[in-house]
Amino acid sequence: MKVGILGQGASGIFLALMLKFENEKVDVTIIDKNANPGRKFLATGNGRCNLGNLEIKDNSYNCEAVSQIVRDFDWTKQEEFFKNIGVLTRNIGNLVYPFSLSAKSLLDYLVDFAKQNKVKFVSNENLLDYELVNGKVKVTTSKKTFSFDKFVIACGNASGPQLGGSTSVLSILEKKGYKVVESRPGLCPVRVEENTKIVENQRVKCDVTLIIDKKETYKETGEVLFKKDGLSGIAIFNTSSIIARSSKFKKAIIRLDLFPDKTTDELYRELTLLNVISQKSLLSGIFTKEIAEFVRRNSGIKNLNTYTASELKKLALYLKNIDFTYKESYGFNDSQVSVGGVKLDCLTESLESKTEKNVFIIGEALNADGLCGGFNLMFAMASGHKALDEILKE
Ligand SMILES: Cc1cc2nc3c(=O)[nH]c(=O)nc-3n(C[C@H](O)[C@H](O)[C@H](O)COP(=O)(O)OP(=O)(O)OC[C@H]3O[C@@H](n4cnc5c(N)ncnc54)[C@H](O)[C@@H]3O)c2cc1C
Repeated sequence: MKVGILGQGASGIFLALMLKFENEKVDVTIIDKNANPGRKFLATGNGRCNLGNLEIKDNSYNCEAVSQIVRDFDWTKQEEFFKNIGVLTRNIGNLVYPFSLSAKSLLDYLVDFAKQNKVKFVSNENLLDYELVNGKVKVTTSKKTFSFDKFVIACGNASGPQLGGSTSVLSILEKKGYKVVESRPGLCPVRVEENTKIVENQRVKCDVTLIIDKKETYKETGEVLFKKDGLSGIAIFNTSSIIARSSKFKKAIIRLDLFPDKTTDELYRELTLLNVISQKSLLSGIFTKEIAEFVRRNSGIKNLNTYTASELKKLALYLKNIDFTYKESYGFNDSQVSVGGVKLDCLTESLESKTEKNVFIIGEALNADGLCGGFNLMFAMASGHKALDEILKE
C-alpha cells in the first residue's frame, strides 16, 4: 500500500514512523515545500523540544474532542512508542522532553531512522491540489504528480510562516467543502492599550487573570515579561490562546496580581510597616527602579513620598489588580500555535474525511490547539495514532 503524507512536520514525521513500525511493507512518502524536514520542530521548547505533558487539564486543549484524542493515546503509550523507535525521554515536573534536551538531536535521529526504514522524503514540493481517481488519491505538487492509496494531510497551520507555517492547504480544503475555522494566532505576546514602555524587558512573578466581558475566564501563576507595547511570557502566551479561542467579545482585561500570596488587607498591613521603615522610598525597597516608577505613575496616588493610610490601601489594591486592556496579538510571526483549522466534524473518529475516502487530516491543520507545555506536539502524535489503524486497512 502506498501512503502519501503532506508535511514533514511533527505530525507527518511521527505518523511515518508509526506506519513503518506497524507494517514495514507500507510504502510511505512524505512531501514538504521546505528544503529540510521539521523546521518548526527545531524551534520547539526553545530548542529543547517539550514533547508532552503528564497532566491534561480542562483548558489544555480548545475542546473536549481534542483532549479525548490525546487521552486515548496517553503519555504512557507515547513513551512506549518512543522507546520502540529507540528514543529515550525525560520528565521535568510534568513536562516531557527528549533525554538529550535537544530538538535538533531528536529530529536528526527521527529523520535518519525514518530514512533507514525506507520512508521517502520529497522536499521543495508545494502541494497544488489533489483529487480522487478510481479509489486512489492523485496528488499534484509544483513539480510532479503522485498516486497514493491513502493521503494524509499534515500541513500545519499559519503560525511561524518563517518556519513553513501556511494556510494554503486549508484554502484548498475549504474550496473542497471542508468547514474551516479561520486561523488566529495563539501562544504569543499581546499588545495592550496601556503604556508599558518604561518597564520594557522587566519581569514580574505574579498571578495573571483574564477577564473577558467582566467574566473571569482564565487564571495562571507565572512570569510576565513586559514588552515595549505589551506583555509576554508563558502565562501571557496561554492567555493569548484563550482570547483567540473566544472569538466574539467586547473587552478583555489582563489583570496582574503581584502579591498572590497575600490578601489586600495583609498587603496593606505589610506596606504600612515597610512605609515606616523605608520612610520616603517604600516602592524602591520592593521593586526594580523601572517597576517602582511604573507603579508610581499608574497607581493613581498623587503623593508618593509620604503615604496616608488611605493611599497605602489604594496602593495595596492596585498592586493586586494591575489591569491591562487587550488590544491585539503580536500575530502569526510570533505565535507558536494557530487557533482554528479544519473542524473535527468533517472527519470520522479515525480522522478520515467524511466526504473523501482515503483522505485523512492530522496535527495542527485541524481545529485543535493546546496551551504551552508540550500539548501541541502531543496532539501531533496522538492525532496520527488515531488515524493509524484506518490508514493501514487494505
Ligand atoms: C517557536 C515555537 C515553539 C514551539 N514549541 C513547542 C513545544 O515546546 N511543545 C509543543 O508541544 N509545541 C510547540 N510548538 C508548536 C508545535 O511545534 C506545532 O504545534 C507542531 O509542530 C505542529 O505539527 P504539524 O506537523 O501539525 O505542523 P508543522 O510542524 O507546521 O508541519 C507542517 C508542514 O507542512 C508543510 N506544508 C504546509 N503547506 C504545504 C504545502 N502547500 N505543500 C507542501 N508542504 C506544506 C510545512 O512546510 C511544514 O513543514 C512550538 C511552535 C513554535 C513556532
